[in-house]
Amino acid sequence: MRKRKAIALLSGGLDSTLAVRIVQDQGIELEAVNFLTPFCTCTSRNSCQLACRQAAETMNIPLKVINVFSEYLDIVRHPEHGYGKNMNPCIDCRIFMFRRAKDYMEERGASFLVTGEVLGERPMSQRRESMETIDRDTGLGGLILRPLSAQLLPPTIPEKNGWIERDRLLSISGRSRKPQMKLAEKFGINDYPCPAGGCLLTDGNFASRLRDIFRHSTDISLNDINLLKSGRHFRLSNRGKIVVGRNEEENEQIFSLASEGDLCFKMIDSLGPLTIARGVLDDADTLIAASITARYGKEKEKERVKIACLRVKESRDRESIIKSQKVLSVTPLTDEEIEPLRI
Ligand code: SF4
Repeated sequence: MRKRKAIALLSGGLDSTLAVRIVQDQGIELEAVNFLTPFCTCTSRNSCQLACRQAAETMNIPLKVINVFSEYLDIVRHPEHGYGKNMNPCIDCRIFMFRRAKDYMEERGASFLVTGEVLGERPMSQRRESMETIDRDTGLGGLILRPLSAQLLPPTIPEKNGWIERDRLLSISGRSRKPQMKLAEKFGINDYPCPAGGCLLTDGNFASRLRDIFRHSTDISLNDINLLKSGRHFRLSNRGKIVVGRNEEENEQIFSLASEGDLCFKMIDSLGPLTIARGVLDDADTLIAASITARYGKEKEKERVKIACLRVKESRDRESIIKSQKVLSVTPLTDEEIEPLRI
């Protein structure tokens, strides 16, 4: 007889890995799905992706990684169920992911979904009422199995139909991760690099930048979102902002994201940050952008500092910025002058 199949939402963290193992132990065939958003803190170094792939490989299950952006950004911008502490719309986010997972479940001929969610572990999406809302709004009532907390929740269809033995599921709740760690020992799992998961939407600084871009832009690209992850951000007007690198690594990151039409600012005679201006800057804003760049350079105590300014076209190499004909001579802004502009 063909094994019954389920789709697991696998992050590569400990909880989802354990959930898969528990269900696998009951003879269910598993496939995994992972949603990659630009807000995953691990995305830049691919560590989450690596963890997720490693977990799938170790457990010998196929993994489908689904990149989400535009549709997901709309959810973040207009969450029906509101935000958590920062810009994290956890309930809507879970509903979105479960809906997509449901499509994949149907595509793969699977019978139910498995997640590592633990009752009460996360303040917004893992409360009992939130789980009920998620089950109802996704149309997946009874088809989401949460093996780590199942005994504290109403029986699901896989349990009722005898595909899964409820007695062999668990009753973990709350924020302590000790029960999961004990279970990991039992399963011989000792490598779980991203146990808490990482989401920039829960970060206060990132949330301020995201709120700012939502207020000032309607058409937001993936590049715009990636630019929010580096540097110091300053709003110069409703139409323009700048991003100033804090170190060499950030200068490189910012520079790699500079797009056609952006302005680049760079000190001419000494070391300093790379600044990218995005949007529309009038002449006064351009001078302020140069003065902020000067403030973070080696010559910040000088009366006048020379800053090169280049509008990015096809060529973005640093040499062309240095050689740029447009040179601005500015006085570095003071911290008091800069502060009101900081996002
Ligand atoms: S923390 Fe981020 S990824 Fe996790 S549910 Fe909330 S919004 Fe979604």
